[in-house]
Amino acid sequence: MREILHFIDGEFVPSEDGATFESVTPIDNTVIARVALGGTAEVDRAVAAARRAFPEWAGMGPEARRELLMRVADGIEERLDELAEWETRDMGKPITAARTKDMPRSAYNFRFFADYAVQAGTKAWDKPWDGVFTYELREPLGVVGSISPWNFPLMLLTWKVAPALAFGCTVVAKPAEQSPITASLLAEICRDVGMPPGVFNVVHGYGPESAGEALTTHPDVDAITFTGESNTGRAIMAAAAPTMKKLSFEMGGKSANIVCADADLDAAVAGSLRGIFVNQGEVCLAGSRLLVQRPIYEEFLARLVEGAEAWKVGDPLDPSTQMGPLVSEEHLEKVLSYIELAQEEGAKLVTGGHRLVDGELAEGNYVAPTIFADADNSMRVCQDEIFGPVEMVMPFDEVEEAIEIANQSRYGLAGMVWTRDLDTAHRVAREVRTGTMWVNCFFVRDLRAPFGGYKDSGLGREGGDYSYEFFTESKAVVMKLDG
Ligand code: NAD
Repeated sequence: MREILHFIDGEFVPSEDGATFESVTPIDNTVIARVALGGTAEVDRAVAAARRAFPEWAGMGPEARRELLMRVADGIEERLDELAEWETRDMGKPITAARTKDMPRSAYNFRFFADYAVQAGTKAWDKPWDGVFTYELREPLGVVGSISPWNFPLMLLTWKVAPALAFGCTVVAKPAEQSPITASLLAEICRDVGMPPGVFNVVHGYGPESAGEALTTHPDVDAITFTGESNTGRAIMAAAAPTMKKLSFEMGGKSANIVCADADLDAAVAGSLRGIFVNQGEVCLAGSRLLVQRPIYEEFLARLVEGAEAWKVGDPLDPSTQMGPLVSEEHLEKVLSYIELAQEEGAKLVTGGHRLVDGELAEGNYVAPTIFADADNSMRVCQDEIFGPVEMVMPFDEVEEAIEIANQSRYGLAGMVWTRDLDTAHRVAREVRTGTMWVNCFFVRDLRAPFGGYKDSGLGREGGDYSYEFFTESKAVVMKLDG
């Protein structure tokens, strides 16, 4: 059993009132950590520490910050196995994914933004005919509140924290209550590399009426960068309005994965399986609506079912496991209830559709990879984000129809199209209203590119220059020229 404390002003501390909550592993639903439960008092202290640390950190400049942030990246790599194992225990993702994807990417988030901040410049506008020269100054924004989800705990926390720190902000992070452990290990790494106290703080707790809400209503927090559900985004927006915080939201999705008849079917089958089953389907970007062109529909479905049935579900600490348990019993119930609803709504279950309870799996939150065929986009299961390993497959005839179905959604986070036809690829990429479109690939990212969502999936963009814009204030300086 681990004890997880807040990290405030460079020190690990319990809550003032001694309150704690339990972190349970989805592998067998036993308690693995007792976690300090923060609220207004802890957020107040963390924000005050971040505010005190801000002038020095902001004034230090990107090159000196880069030195420290590179050491944080080194620290993540040095402790990679330990971090990966706790991530897996905490939220159930397969250890191989934690080791080879999440943790290296967490280190890379620091390296990428540490370098980026050194390179980032500003614009200038020369206007001699009016006798003025205008240039842009960029200044670190201030104290940033970072609120993150449980599906990629360290990877998504560092996606927010690394750019904020690199561009000169100080941070109070509130990790998801389901997966608090690696945020605290990151705090140890920051302390050990000599990051000044108060620059990075972690307060644990829940969202509403807890540490999350305290952060969103705090008058001395300048911005909130949030990843999580769209409804939570709505609540944060309302809570943050009185104090006029700058907001950046990355939220839910129900992305369409469009497979055309001329696609490379091997690549499309492999990509589609990953697109829904990777990370137990607990992926905002998941291609959870699979649109397949009629001539290949039956063949594609058969190959998909074959792939789903071969997908290895089991103990996530086993390196050969491809799918672990769902994050919590509550989430398991939600996913199972959507599986039931899909059948009530008339979709055809072709594989999976049940909890896995063989042997040791009975103690955990395991669900079989599930595929429904002949779904209709108007069904609730095609409109709501299920956030589990449940694929809804539907046929289409013409590409226009696929685009129309893809756009019939309140979400607009991502999408995929598999085709060998360049015109089709461009057309789908342009006409589907979504923040990221993948053509003949899935999940590949370039951190310089904008990342975010249309409609209910997001507010603003992060990545490269977009993060630079969010985490800095911009000022126009207008100079009178002689003559
Ligand atoms: P969630 O919205 O329930 O929680 C996310 C975080 O917000 C947690 O830290 C939680 O404690 C906090 N929170 C909850 N209510 C709050 C409130 N009222 N005020 C302040 N903080 C509050 O989301 P989740 O279940 O942890 O994550 C799954 C969701 O995240 C899915 O919808 C998924 O699509 C989305 N997601 C989006 C992206 C993206 O990049 N767009 C990435 C990963 C996950």
